[in-house]
Amino acid sequence: MTMLRNFTAVLPVTCNADCGFCPEKEMEQKAKPKDWQEALIDSIVDNEHRVDHVSISGGEPTLRMNFLFETIDEILSRTGIGNVGLTTNGRFLESPNSVLKFLDLNTDRLLRSKLSHLNISMHSFDRALANKIMGVEYSWTMDDLVRFRRQLGRDVSFHINFVLNEHNIKNIEHEFIAARDFMHANPLIDVVFRVDYNNAKLNKDLRAYGQSVEAWRESTRGSIKEEKAARKRILKQPKMLQMFDDIFNGSLVDSLSDWLPSTDGPNTSACPSCFTHQSPEINNSFAWLKASSYEPNDDEPEFTELVFHMDGKLYYDWSRNTPAKKDTWSPAKAEKAVRRIRRSRFDLEPKAEEPKAKAVKKRPAKNKKVEFDASDLEETNTFRRKEEQMPKGGTCSYDDRGKCNYRG
Ligand code: SF4
Repeated sequence: MTMLRNFTAVLPVTCNADCGFCPEKEMEQKAKPKDWQEALIDSIVDNEHRVDHVSISGGEPTLRMNFLFETIDEILSRTGIGNVGLTTNGRFLESPNSVLKFLDLNTDRLLRSKLSHLNISMHSFDRALANKIMGVEYSWTMDDLVRFRRQLGRDVSFHINFVLNEHNIKNIEHEFIAARDFMHANPLIDVVFRVDYNNAKLNKDLRAYGQSVEAWRESTRGSIKEEKAARKRILKQPKMLQMFDDIFNGSLVDSLSDWLPSTDGPNTSACPSCFTHQSPEINNSFAWLKASSYEPNDDEPEFTELVFHMDGKLYYDWSRNTPAKKDTWSPAKAEKAVRRIRRSRFDLEPKAEEPKAKAVKKRPAKNKKVEFDASDLEETNTFRRKEEQMPKGGTCSYDDRGKCNYRG
């Protein structure tokens, strides 16, 4: 299981959409942009030993395109982070000038992309429904998106970000099918289906299934008997996941022989607060089903995310309930907590080894007869003193004080 954290930077900018599930409903911009940027860099530097990338979100970050790329330049030049991603609602695709500006600002002096990954939010493959969900009248099309993906270059990982919410979940089978057909026709575009935070039951069911798979995976390091027992305890896949696998050509059973992300079978990974399921490869891309909870909560300590908010402060999640403290997290501590949770839920942790019995020191038997050579006597002063009085060769029998009674 990956213990690295996600570092999200919420750019202090408003949004031109109005999604019902938006975690950023109150877009307060308490910090001044320059102060926010400086605090962000400090915060990344403080935490760069425990994150491997930074994701920028908002609001809609492309509404302040210059500030956005200035921030990306600062991250790349002043911190040790080399991977920076962006989440956008794609509105800029409607303006050729905005697309050109984006491509221009994103290209470095060696003509490479500064961004390592890009997520475009689109919550239905039906434009009218997507607009309804986001409360907008967008006119950009899938053709615009595919063209932009080509212009961006192959070194950028490119995702459509799809939130499963109350408007699209009833028709989700058709959305899965539309995504699969789109991916077959257009290479190098992943589609990531994320369960809305507010769908607590589906979130919980998927995370529980993911945890049972992880517990089984850990048992494969133990005996065959342990592995068999753990395999039996893998929970039944939630229906949503069965449908996903069915449509994206996975099997109905997780590919149990793979414990590394595979390209030829579906793969599940999970932490107490997150769930990720990857489809088999489709035209150089993958479909994903993801779920996560607001963290931390009572039984699920958070190990995956740090959010640097619009107010210029660092939190453990989007809710801003828990400010992140410095240096309170360590991989060992996190791993221990995750193991404790799994053990309590699935009882699958290998048993701790029995402590070894203490070695008992044997006392020499009383009056034991010991053969010796005169050279052995040189070892101790006691015997050295005796040696002067003894002829060469002979035997010594010891009484219970260790005194030698010499016999020639
Ligand atoms: S596009 Fe993103 S930031 Fe804007 S309202 Fe929707 S979820 Fe919120």
